[in-house]
Amino acid sequence: MNFLYINGPVHNGPFTFAERPGKAAGLRAAAALNTLLDAGPAPHLWNTVTLAGDLRHRDAPDRDTVGRQEREEHAIAAKYAPGAAPAGGVLTDTAPVVAALALEMTERLLQDGVLAVAPVPVHLCTRCGHMAGVVAHTCRACEHPSFRPQTRQLLVWDRLPGAPVLARDDFHAHRARTPGHLLSVAQNVPERLILSRTRDHGISLAPLGLDGLVLDPRAGVHIAVLAAAAQSNTGQPVMTITENAAANVAAYGALFRRHNGTRLRYAVHGRIPYDDTAALQRLCEVHRVSQALRELFLTWFLPLCSLHIRTGITAAQLPALLEFCRRAHLARPDTPGSDGLAELRRRVAAGDMRWVMDVRTLSRAIPEYPVIHSPEAIAEVTSMLAPGDRRR
Ligand SMILES: [Zn+2]
Repeated sequence: MNFLYINGPVHNGPFTFAERPGKAAGLRAAAALNTLLDAGPAPHLWNTVTLAGDLRHRDAPDRDTVGRQEREEHAIAAKYAPGAAPAGGVLTDTAPVVAALALEMTERLLQDGVLAVAPVPVHLCTRCGHMAGVVAHTCRACEHPSFRPQTRQLLVWDRLPGAPVLARDDFHAHRARTPGHLLSVAQNVPERLILSRTRDHGISLAPLGLDGLVLDPRAGVHIAVLAAAAQSNTGQPVMTITENAAANVAAYGALFRRHNGTRLRYAVHGRIPYDDTAALQRLCEVHRVSQALRELFLTWFLPLCSLHIRTGITAAQLPALLEFCRRAHLARPDTPGSDGLAELRRRVAAGDMRWVMDVRTLSRAIPEYPVIHSPEAIAEVTSMLAPGDRRR
């Protein structure tokens, strides 16, 4: 089987996991499934090619002494509680191994005539040179209102009319649960996709003669997953991603989901209402939930559940889900072992997540030594449930 769940790279914004545990949903879901499959640990993937990151760096008072790469790395390290760096390490979407793979794949696609470098009419900000699309309003990088039209060499993918950018089998999901509307969203992208952008930071396309341009990060996040898969020696990476993110990036990843026999598929997950901490705290108090069960519920069960309830878990569902999780916890087998594990693994490998709603199966899946007992998780749960919580 050789599956490995890998998170869709998380935007490296100004937050910590203690403050925004919802940002860890994809990482947590991936870790829980990898533990079940006895795979991994997978690295934590980060998306650093963002306009917001460009702006933060430009505005930083220490920008003359701290480089952009270093700033991104510091920001990533600060996401985790002290001493709680991920076991599988971290990988950014501009790491040398990702950049090398990106150039290799892009060069091959150019040679094969799938991608092309072509002159495209664009609008460039007259102040900072940021490239807007066909329609230009205010510069997203510097808010300058004026643009000049120019024709610029760009990396483009001109699809054949009607050629699909996303198919059912791009999802690691039970067939009946393929998110059909995502297929149509992805299909509505223009026939010409532009795969190069102006950014201060990213995978430089200068080696292809495109000075000052980087690979579109929506393609890059897929290549980061492929690079992580290669490092972990897995042929079937499964990228955890929210439906919105998938709608945003899937078309740009269409040419970057397969490489040398490796095939990336998506596992779509919904949002988890962690941000409603007051409700979560009340819930745990009312139900007199032990610390161990809190951790299990928040950092293991809810992420797994989010792969099943892909439209998003609502705050109103939390009491019933907590009760369900408690029943499964009570029903754990006395001697954890292989009983039913093979069948469970088979279902996970088939992308079938319906088992999370089966108490007996779920009880068998509860890890013997949960990853959730990491200092990181404890700090997070404590801060999440602490009175007078300091988020936002
Ligand atoms: Zn500008």
